[in-house]
Amino acid sequence: MGKLLIANWKMNPKKESEALTLARASDASHVVICPPFPFIATAGKALKKAKLGSQDLFYEASGPYTGEVSSEELKSMGVSYVILGHSDRRRLFGEIDEIIAKKVSAALLNGITPILCVGETFADRETNQTFAVLDRQLKMVLSQLPAGTKEELIICYEPVWAISTNLKEGMEPPTAENIAQVVEYLKSIVGNSGVSVSFIYGGSVNSTDLKSYLDIPGISGALVGAASLKPVEFKKMIKIAK
Ligand code: PEP
Repeated sequence: MGKLLIANWKMNPKKESEALTLARASDASHVVICPPFPFIATAGKALKKAKLGSQDLFYEASGPYTGEVSSEELKSMGVSYVILGHSDRRRLFGEIDEIIAKKVSAALLNGITPILCVGETFADRETNQTFAVLDRQLKMVLSQLPAGTKEELIICYEPVWAISTNLKEGMEPPTAENIAQVVEYLKSIVGNSGVSVSFIYGGSVNSTDLKSYLDIPGISGALVGAASLKPVEFKKMIKIAK
């Protein structure tokens, strides 16, 4: 089976017609497409092989939560994956570990596979806080999981500083060795808690370096932002991950 590619379109594209074209061009069995909310239905109808994902959800089932979307609502639209704890949400929308943990639980209880993003900022890295941050982010989620969770949790190691929009000129993304070390560390936190986890990597991944990330022991896929918006580039990535 191919490795998993999660396409995080973020707040792109601008028009439904463009979302449709992009979804059709990205349709492959080992791909998860995460469009913005307004295009979820359109993308869902266009996909024959790829799975549908959401970029967020709210943990309550229904009620007076203006602007929010529940896991039940997403499930009814055919969504089977959800990105949670992305650094955009943590940084811009004040999402703290407690909220992210509740969202992960809500997703699992409704049969949606969470893709939990964890990762250090540049400042964390500079002050040797990487492992402390990962520890805090993952432990909070694990401590709140619904009892007897059998569903899979995908953990995405995404160093915030290595995301394409943050990576500064002259800076190199983490090495395969760094990533393998982090995966080992995250595995040790999960330990024998009984939760089934898999690990993916995210941060400026493109067709040139995808294979080197997918070859890292313990890595079973990639979260792809900017490159997932370029159909020719993403098609190359689909072939590599197959
Ligand atoms: C992301 O922000 O989730 C991401 C993977 O972005 P990029 O690939 O553009 O670094």
